[in-house]
Amino acid sequence: MQWRIIIDTMHEFDTVEKIYNSLLNMGELPNRVYIKLSKLNGNVDFVRFAIESMIKGTALERIKLEFIEIKPKIRCRTCGYEGEVDIPAHVHFIRCPFCNDVVDIIEGKEIEILVKD
Ligand SMILES: [Zn+2]
Repeated sequence: MQWRIIIDTMHEFDTVEKIYNSLLNMGELPNRVYIKLSKLNGNVDFVRFAIESMIKGTALERIKLEFIEIKPKIRCRTCGYEGEVDIPAHVHFIRCPFCNDVVDIIEGKEIEILVKD
């Protein structure tokens, strides 16, 4: 079995809460869960630490969690640049590395949760 949950988050606490709720609602617990997220969802180390602390001592603890950090992907309407960008931390707007205009985010806003048993 493999399935996917996609959730939109705004900041770290929202991210942590939504991942935790997704794990809680899995019914039969999978062996392994992949959580794909970017800095737009918050500091990945913080999110991992929070989730691991929350499930410690619960039934969810036996799930092997793999956090995968991806870089946000953007598209610039001004100069046409499309690709991955490095951002230092959680931000609300990403600027184009070439022309400094505000860009559309085409990947990295949503968290993907992949479940494998
Ligand atoms: Zn640009």
